[in-house]
Amino acid sequence: MPNGLDNKINHCKAVMKDKYQALYFKVFNRKRIRVCLYPNCKKKAIKSHSVSNKRGLDLISFKRHVMTLNLKHNITSRDVYFEKKGVFESSIFLGFCDDHDREIFDQIDNFAFDLSNNEQLFLFAYRAFMKSYYFHYDNLETDSELLISNKILGLEKFDPLGPDLLEYTRSYYSFMYRYELKSEFDNLLVNKDFSALEYSAVEINHDSPTIALSDFFSLNCEDPIFKNSFLVFNILPVSKKKSIALFSYKKEDSVYIKEFLADILDENDSIIKNISLSKLILENCDNFFLNPVFYSNWGYSKQKLVLDYIVSCSNNGGALFSNEFILFK
Ligand SMILES: [Zn+2]
Repeated sequence: MPNGLDNKINHCKAVMKDKYQALYFKVFNRKRIRVCLYPNCKKKAIKSHSVSNKRGLDLISFKRHVMTLNLKHNITSRDVYFEKKGVFESSIFLGFCDDHDREIFDQIDNFAFDLSNNEQLFLFAYRAFMKSYYFHYDNLETDSELLISNKILGLEKFDPLGPDLLEYTRSYYSFMYRYELKSEFDNLLVNKDFSALEYSAVEINHDSPTIALSDFFSLNCEDPIFKNSFLVFNILPVSKKKSIALFSYKKEDSVYIKEFLADILDENDSIIKNISLSKLILENCDNFFLNPVFYSNWGYSKQKLVLDYIVSCSNNGGALFSNEFILFK
């Protein structure tokens, strides 16, 4: 092996080991006990809903069930499948203590949706972000524990250019991105600075609601224009005939995001708009829920094609999007 490459590998090993150890002591010292994500709260977290029952899941459920996407990315498991779950166990994460879960989200859980209410718009974004933060925290912790228990990190057996490290590095950066953003979101909440984010919304008219969604993703893919931009995306079924797609983002990203979402925000044809929305969802989101009857009517082959498309997108693409994958009716 040439010396240069050898040095690079050793450097990579050392950097990942240092980062990992620092992170382990800083973040993971609480082990599996989950405490509330509200700043400085030490109470035990309960199962919070990322999409509320009353405001989302109930409207798309059938016999109190919804289809949930399981997209587990870690070192040992890359399982992706849709699973039928009861509404009470869907969309949950160990996010907040009983008090904070009730107090923080009162405005969106107990009042009708109001597009002119900035507090509501912020809270939908805050909850979607926290769910994503928690999901990546959980994933990285699982990966870290696997690395320790397998004694991979720092040992001869450890292959620094192998898939384990790539997966771990991916988990690490996905989490750290959110870890650094969390205090910004917390400050906005604590200071009630609800207009710090900008919001765009589009109406979706349908025969019946088929999907509810609450997600956060970064746009710092390959395109340097997006640097550290993020998009928070919610689909809120508000009645039998209408849902709202709500986008939240940093004010300084407004121009880029509106360009990125032009196919949705500027489109007058509802079918084309719904196709663009479906593409955005399947390419970027995992925290969404479908009406079970709508899903079962796809039939096995379409279900498989849609799943293949989701898997392909999470592995940097390859599969072709079809207009048949529309998630609304
Ligand atoms: Zn709390």
